[in-house]
Amino acid sequence: MKCNKCSAPAVIYQRYSGMSLCSTHFQEDVHRKIRETLRESGIFGKGAKIAVAVNGSADSATLAYSLKSLFSNRMDVELIAIMIDECIGGYRRESMDCARRLAEGLEIAFMTKGFGQAFRQAFGRTVDEIAGEMEPCRACTAMRNDLLNRAASEIGADAIAAGHNLDDEAGDVMLKYLRGDVKGLLQPGARGGVPVIRPLRRVPAKETRLYAKILGLVFGQETCPYACGMRLDAKAELQGFEMRHPGTNYSLLRSLKRLEELRHLRDEKGQSL
Ligand code: SF4
Repeated sequence: MKCNKCSAPAVIYQRYSGMSLCSTHFQEDVHRKIRETLRESGIFGKGAKIAVAVNGSADSATLAYSLKSLFSNRMDVELIAIMIDECIGGYRRESMDCARRLAEGLEIAFMTKGFGQAFRQAFGRTVDEIAGEMEPCRACTAMRNDLLNRAASEIGADAIAAGHNLDDEAGDVMLKYLRGDVKGLLQPGARGGVPVIRPLRRVPAKETRLYAKILGLVFGQETCPYACGMRLDAKAELQGFEMRHPGTNYSLLRSLKRLEELRHLRDEKGQSL
């Protein structure tokens, strides 16, 4: 298989675009998708301090590395890696080490925050204790977002860059449709505080991993022992759907954009949906 752009050996065939790409053109393609998303955020017109949410995964390694290289000529853009530790059993040991080594390699400042005590104060028990009785993800996600937001505020960040890839974004849209969560669909990412950007939202999960592998980035394979529930099911279903119908994830993302446009139109006319 050869690259459609230069006939060098291809490292990937993108079923959704019909393109085969070599390593160089694949990286260019990833950067193009990230640049488009960053441009839309409107944050980088002038200097900015960005809190990069890392967790030791391939997504966060790709996020941190690509931002560092895309802004290598911008002295007015500062990146600071922040890792949240959910304080779950032995989870995060490997990923914490990976995230720390990644930040060191990229010469990005690295800070961590854990929410063991805060979680107990808010819910009376730790994530591990709650998990014995109910699915802990909603409470855990809310606490993680809150802590990340507070850490980003503390350092005076203009935005938090989160490592959600296309599959995550499409899974989230699908989940909201399934739950009938129209408000969530119309206000994606609306959680107040420091604005959140998702530079990898147009990059499929498979490609964030390939990018990290090609560049030899440090990342781990840890999975939370409590990962389960409807969100995971929605993502798994979508994976099968994407295999059979390439481009489905992009279609879902476009549906979200269309909804946002409709909301703006209604807002301008002073109507409610
Ligand atoms: Fe928290 Fe659930 Fe993620 Fe585990 S899978 S870290 S419990 S949100």
